[in-house]
Amino acid sequence: MPDSRMMNKNGMVSVIQTRIRTDPFKNHYDLVGKELGRGKFAVVKKCIEKKTGKEHAAKFLRKRRKGEDCRMDLINEIAVLESAKSNPYIISLHEVYETTSEIILVLECAAGGEIFNQCVADNDEAFTEQDVIRLARQILMGVSCLHHNNVVHLDLKPQNILLTSARPLGDIRIVDFGLSRRMDNMKELREILGTPEYVAPEVLNYEPISTATDMWSIGVLAYVMLTGESPFLGNDKQETFLNISQVNVDYSQDVFEGVSSLAIDFIKSLLVKNPRNRATAEECLKHPWLSGHPHTPLLSSHLPSLEEPVASQSESEPEPDSPAPT
Ligand code: ADP
Ligand code: MG
Repeated sequence: MPDSRMMNKNGMVSVIQTRIRTDPFKNHYDLVGKELGRGKFAVVKKCIEKKTGKEHAAKFLRKRRKGEDCRMDLINEIAVLESAKSNPYIISLHEVYETTSEIILVLECAAGGEIFNQCVADNDEAFTEQDVIRLARQILMGVSCLHHNNVVHLDLKPQNILLTSARPLGDIRIVDFGLSRRMDNMKELREILGTPEYVAPEVLNYEPISTATDMWSIGVLAYVMLTGESPFLGNDKQETFLNISQVNVDYSQDVFEGVSSLAIDFIKSLLVKNPRNRATAEECLKHPWLSGHPHTPLLSSHLPSLEEPVASQSESEPEPDSPAPT
């Protein structure tokens, strides 16, 4: 566990346990296939470990960005991954390599890609509410582990929530700890971070950031997963920011057609302007929308296989304990 001496004033952890290897990455891995994804400063590619034949995802991070040395940010990203090692819903870190210009994180490969794809998919490929219930519980269990360790993710959005497989729908892996910070022993963190559509009002207003900041983003995530619409997205950045600071959310039947009132109630417990009044990850897991489904298995491996039809899973016969349609 890092103590305060290992942190700088911005909540970044500077001590890690993982050995940083300086021998060539290519001696140990073959890159295969095309890119898995990319962000602002990183490219992620699939690779196979020569020794084991196992598939991994290699995240190539440049150490210099806009002329500045960012090595400490990358060490912080590694430290956060280490702190959540035991949680199945946080992507696991296998190895780290360093070259003169890059740091390479060898991560578990989440082959199902970003949940973003299903959020914007047509009806037959989009998530059902039952899917969202199962995935939201997993996201919350991952985030609750981070928050338990006093870590805030600060960039929770559909591009940073991956799936172990897309079809059949697998399990969640949270990725991208590039903006994550430790909150303990730290003066207030006030920074403009994250992606406009998903950031909480306090971030825009330059007010203190806390674990509640992530909870706002989970509210936005749940909204997008259930409706396919981004609740605060305006025609431009300015309009988006105004929608967020006014908590201008459309909860109408039009948007939430076929979604239970419990789901809407869940979202309403998170899209609350005052961070103190937002539900915590623990509270969310106890919300009736998520806790009222003792028969919904948490893991995809426990779901009935598609080949064996199960009567209670048929669309025409909803389970007796499924949420009442509004
Ligand atoms: P950035 O900090 O640049 O946003 P991310 O860690 O979010 O970098 O990675 C960029 C993209 O690469 C992700 O949005 C995702 O599509 C893909 N990706 C990242 N990690 C993995 C992984 N472990 N398995 C599969 N795809 C990944
Ligand atoms: Mg990202």
